[in-house]
Amino acid sequence: MPKAQETVLEIDLDALAHNYRYLRNKVAPETKFLAVVKAFAYGSDAEQVAIKLETLGVDYFAVAYVKEGVTLRDAGITRPILVLHPQPIHFDTIIKRCLEPSIYSPRILRLFLETAEQHGQKQYPVHLKFNTGLNRLGFWENDLDSILELLKDRNELKVLAIYSHLAASDDLNEISFTKTQIATFQKIATKLNSNLGYRPFQHLLNTSGILNYPTAQFDMVRSGIGLYGFGNEAKTDPRLKPVASLKTIISQIHRIEPGETVGYSRAFKATDYQITATLPVGHADGIGRQYGNGSTYVFVNGQKALIIGNVCMDMIMINVTGIDCKEGDEVLFFGKDISAEDFADTGNTISYELLAAISQRVNRLFIGN
Ligand SMILES: *Cc1c(COP(=O)(O)O)cnc(C)c1O
Repeated sequence: MPKAQETVLEIDLDALAHNYRYLRNKVAPETKFLAVVKAFAYGSDAEQVAIKLETLGVDYFAVAYVKEGVTLRDAGITRPILVLHPQPIHFDTIIKRCLEPSIYSPRILRLFLETAEQHGQKQYPVHLKFNTGLNRLGFWENDLDSILELLKDRNELKVLAIYSHLAASDDLNEISFTKTQIATFQKIATKLNSNLGYRPFQHLLNTSGILNYPTAQFDMVRSGIGLYGFGNEAKTDPRLKPVASLKTIISQIHRIEPGETVGYSRAFKATDYQITATLPVGHADGIGRQYGNGSTYVFVNGQKALIIGNVCMDMIMINVTGIDCKEGDEVLFFGKDISAEDFADTGNTISYELLAAISQRVNRLFIGN
């Protein structure tokens, strides 16, 4: 592996392929597999990740917003792309770029119908999203009548699929709640199918759902975090491989006298002689202030060094007292020796937030094929 010469997010495409195959094997062969590549593919790189997954045979992609779908089309992605949370201002673009909108409320359905009509569309594919307990986005079960009323005698749209999202698929203390969500989803599907006169396909499970609720795969599953190497549980994580590693180098080393302080607000006070290293990465790169002041360590030549003082916008200082290192040496934030999940935990957050926060200022470096 080449040594880092600046701050880089290394993206391991072989690890991505490994994770895809692992998860794909958990799913029935006839069940479609949708890869969630929203938020720059969880902070990695949406284009390269989607291109790789398309060659591996992924059936579907999902993004949160229309702009993200456009990026994938511009990158040459030809598989269907579901837009999970589109806004009406971009409905024209959805149709122009052949994206499939998630329709999640009567207002959105009315507005998308209008746009489809203006574009002279027939049977434009849409996914109806139902709220079964997450209470975030989606039609309620009792919206079914108004949905059917709106669609009656109209040919602009085709309900290609219906779907819902689980609130706690990772939490085995919530099995009965999750089972209720699954049952509600099935009930909605049955009612809708009998009234529509055709059967849209159905999808429900995210990564933890794939791992914990194998009987609820329906016609497609939607995986995000698992593809990037995390299964939200100690049992699965060792079988997945982290795709992203954040690395940087030591810009400068300082020898600090007792009583001296480091960084803004003089937050770190040396009680002893200390050696510190300054790194070219900061909260503008996605390593927030919660990781400062001794909360978190990074790896310098395989040894743990604590982040000291306040995290700055473009710099972080670490304590390298007693660690054999020099300016220019590589520093690992997360990747192989410490997982993004464990690193995130030191800042009281989860891998999803840490990964998706790595900003576009950090160069992405691809390894593997
Ligand atoms: C983000 C998202 C997913 C992916 O969830 P993971 O836990 O990352 O697998 C699936 N479905 C919806 C609706 C989402 O918003």
